[in-house]
Amino acid sequence: MGARGARGARGARGARGAIGAIGAIGAIVANCAGAPTPDDKASLAPATASSIAPTTDSSLASTSGGAIAPTNGQLAPSGAFDSARAWKDLEAQIAVGPRPAGSAALQKTRDYILAELKKAGVEARPQIFIARTPLGETSMANVIATIPGRRSERLAIASHYDTKRTPFTRPSGATVTRFVGASDGASSTAALLELARVLKSRQNEFTIELLFFDGEEAVVEWSRTDSTYGSRYYVDAARKAGTLKDLRALVLLDMIGDKDLIIRRDSGSTPWLVDIVWAAAARIGHRGLFSNELTTIDDDHMPFILAGVPAVDIIDLDYAAWHTADDTIDKVSARSLQIVGDVVLAALPDIEAKLR
Ligand SMILES: [Zn+2]
Repeated sequence: MGARGARGARGARGARGAIGAIGAIGAIVANCAGAPTPDDKASLAPATASSIAPTTDSSLASTSGGAIAPTNGQLAPSGAFDSARAWKDLEAQIAVGPRPAGSAALQKTRDYILAELKKAGVEARPQIFIARTPLGETSMANVIATIPGRRSERLAIASHYDTKRTPFTRPSGATVTRFVGASDGASSTAALLELARVLKSRQNEFTIELLFFDGEEAVVEWSRTDSTYGSRYYVDAARKAGTLKDLRALVLLDMIGDKDLIIRRDSGSTPWLVDIVWAAAARIGHRGLFSNELTTIDDDHMPFILAGVPAVDIIDLDYAAWHTADDTIDKVSARSLQIVGDVVLAALPDIEAKLR
């Protein structure tokens, strides 16, 4: 996953990272101490997806015939985010095992992503590049999927699909030898695949790009040069090709699988974009899960921010299993994928309206 405030503790941003982590812990306590709000209880119901209220008629349009799949024994509405399908994508990634950049396992994961996009009828291509890492040159590949909209200008939704290279040593001194990244890598990638299916079934105003980034994780130790290889390459390549100017906004998903979901506002993200996403979350009943507490996150959105593209990072910073061997499937839930998927879909029409 991306860097979170706590990960910053390893680098120059250590002080700020540590403060962020402390604040986060305090907030977790506060969150656990309070009972779920009625709204959040309601969000447990499988019918959550149908509570999305698109703000434009166009976003209601669905060309999908019968993309109905069972969710917990119930039928998800056609054109809605189906966390049961996303869960299968999460399981498929974890079944591959650890998936670090440059590995055969990540190639297999990439093949899975491309195959699923093809099944959904979404055009996609690998963007292959050579990354210079502290351990030498590594071949990496982003996957860029495109769903044409009425306009050629693009909105991107992104996730990294690599997992942290092992073995690595934690600040405690413990060495992690196996890391499958159930939340840190698999969860947001699964959600992104499901969003591709849903958005393909709709008529979108902007062209939607689904960006699956390679090499988000540091190969050795997190820094601006040893991290976010895929997102930095994408931005550089788009800038050189003259296509970056048509990218109007980026929504980044990272570590969204935590069963105890809590998402804080990242101070580095674009404020108006954060406002729209948080307002959408509140509107569909997740005000308690999208906290207004600020934190600072270094992640795949930062190359876009630095290049002038509005971007927001949706990430759960408070995950005890972060970068431990315990980031396994029992720590994540389909419900969390559903919540984030629903929020992104609820926010999209408002983002489009803002950029119109
Ligand atoms: Zn990570």
